[in-house]
Amino acid sequence: MAASSCIACNNGSTDEKEEKRKCDLVGYEALPEWLKDNEFIHGYYRCEWPMKETVLSIFSIHNETLNVWSHLLGFLLFLCLAIFTAMVIPRNGSSRSSNSAAYQLGDLVEMANMTVALRHEALAACFLLPPSAAALSEDGQQQIPTSCPPNTSSSHHHAIQIQSSTGTAATVDAGTAADPITRWPLFAYLVGAMVCLLTSSVCHLILCHSERTAYVTLRLDYAGIAALIVTSFYPLAYYSFLCNPALQRLYMGSITALGAAAVTASLVPAFQAPELRPLRAALFSCMGASGAVPIAHKLLLYGGTAPGAVASAGYEALMGVLYGLGVAVYAARVPERWAPGRFDLVGHSHQLFHLFVIAGAYAHYHAGVEYLKWRDVDKC
Ligand SMILES: [Zn+2]
Repeated sequence: MAASSCIACNNGSTDEKEEKRKCDLVGYEALPEWLKDNEFIHGYYRCEWPMKETVLSIFSIHNETLNVWSHLLGFLLFLCLAIFTAMVIPRNGSSRSSNSAAYQLGDLVEMANMTVALRHEALAACFLLPPSAAALSEDGQQQIPTSCPPNTSSSHHHAIQIQSSTGTAATVDAGTAADPITRWPLFAYLVGAMVCLLTSSVCHLILCHSERTAYVTLRLDYAGIAALIVTSFYPLAYYSFLCNPALQRLYMGSITALGAAAVTASLVPAFQAPELRPLRAALFSCMGASGAVPIAHKLLLYGGTAPGAVASAGYEALMGVLYGLGVAVYAARVPERWAPGRFDLVGHSHQLFHLFVIAGAYAHYHAGVEYLKWRDVDKC
């Protein structure tokens, strides 16, 4: 800290009794080497502020404000998605009583009305309700939500029409359908996404405090990115290769090992050098891109027979495009490269990168939902 010239905080005017510390924003040229990252962002930097002021700066305007808030809001989005998924899409039916299923039916109506975007997930849950759920309603009448198609859950219909893996309508016993596939790989992914978004947000908020803080939080940030990528593979590998545990272990094990290796590599201080930005982008991109192998494998095995395999691959491709665009923007540092200083507060590449990450992660969540729809009715 002593060598730095950027300290911009003082204890306020001397005529005031209370210690009011005021910190100013500084320009790029005033930054110490460890804080210099993007020469195309000229101003509005916080530099070695005390921790209290650094944390409180979440409520003030500087060149990291939108980076902090974009991923903080993304974290809250995924928290809501996790809660929504847990409430609307029933868990393992074997551990639930008929009463809880009836309770869920009421919830389902409310939750389904909450969001149009996730209505089809609620519809999937309609299919999974056991017939007893309707039979248990107080007035003895079936209370199937209007969003549910007829005979999805009926005391008179113990069989429901659902789309089987062969692409044709097949009759599946409701007792089987009421025993959905395990949700843990999807929840592992949701937790991975939340960890990534939260660590990123914290990193952007407090990194400027000191060189030591920057070192620790950047490693946390990389670990968060690795967690997102690794857990993204879990629904893909687990549900796609449900009938082949050896392939499940192969894909889940290798991506976990790769993620651990990337986190270990990030512990090397040189890894953070600005000139290694393309290498960092390449390392995590390659990890993510290696997902093309199990996706291709899945399509090879089930592409012609299971609509769920194709639908999930569609969302996975969308995710790949969004992440790819994000990484390209991150590495190229556009648009600030074209007009240095113009995008300091709003619109610089890292903010765009954050938006692409959230959009890609959201697309992947939908892939996960497609897996549940597929595997709930089509097990081994
Ligand atoms: Zn970031």
